[in-house]
Amino acid sequence: MKETHRDEWRVMVTLKPRYPADLGLTGIDDLAEFLAGPTPPITVAVLPRRLGKLSAGMSVPDNMMSRDVEGAYRRRCDEIAAELRNRPQVAEATVACTETHWCSHCGLGWEVLVDVQGGRQDEFSIAGEPVCCDKAIAEFRSEQGIEVHAEGVVAYRHPDRPGEVLCREHGYPWFAQPLTADDLPDGGVCVYKHGSLLGECGRDVLIVEAGERA
Ligand SMILES: [Zn+2]
Ligand SMILES: [Zn+2]
Repeated sequence: MKETHRDEWRVMVTLKPRYPADLGLTGIDDLAEFLAGPTPPITVAVLPRRLGKLSAGMSVPDNMMSRDVEGAYRRRCDEIAAELRNRPQVAEATVACTETHWCSHCGLGWEVLVDVQGGRQDEFSIAGEPVCCDKAIAEFRSEQGIEVHAEGVVAYRHPDRPGEVLCREHGYPWFAQPLTADDLPDGGVCVYKHGSLLGECGRDVLIVEAGERA
């Protein structure tokens, strides 16, 4: 699943300097009037005060101040933008942040097939499909309703160990040979293992689960 993290919250403020004082050129009002124009607009980034900054020299981690750090920064930036929009020298104030996306399964950065070229793919690949890991690809396809298993396929032969099988969740047509019930007179148990924390599959591949099409 695509996870999103947002940080580096900021308010981008575009100024329209009209008077010398707007640019800090003060003390010359008796002598000066307007800036000679046209002046190109100036955009500056206003950074919100850090959530964890309690006072000068006193800071704690942001997540100690809020359970919703992103939301808190967004609200803080919205307030800054609303306040600054009322100023005569401000042309525009918009809230911005930097987004990073990663895969909840493998932890790699989230990348997708932009058009169906490059990356790992097969005849079922469509634009928008993740490329990082089998889990993400399988999840995307089930969300999209893409049926990748040919009719009658109950399992896949392990690509490296021909005597072993993988279930329909853990075998994929692009690397393992599909098997039907006829190929498996004695049945079979999925040998998929994925790290010690998640344990192993061990599913009997001939038992079709409720709701799953055979
Ligand atoms: Zn992944
Ligand atoms: Zn399995």
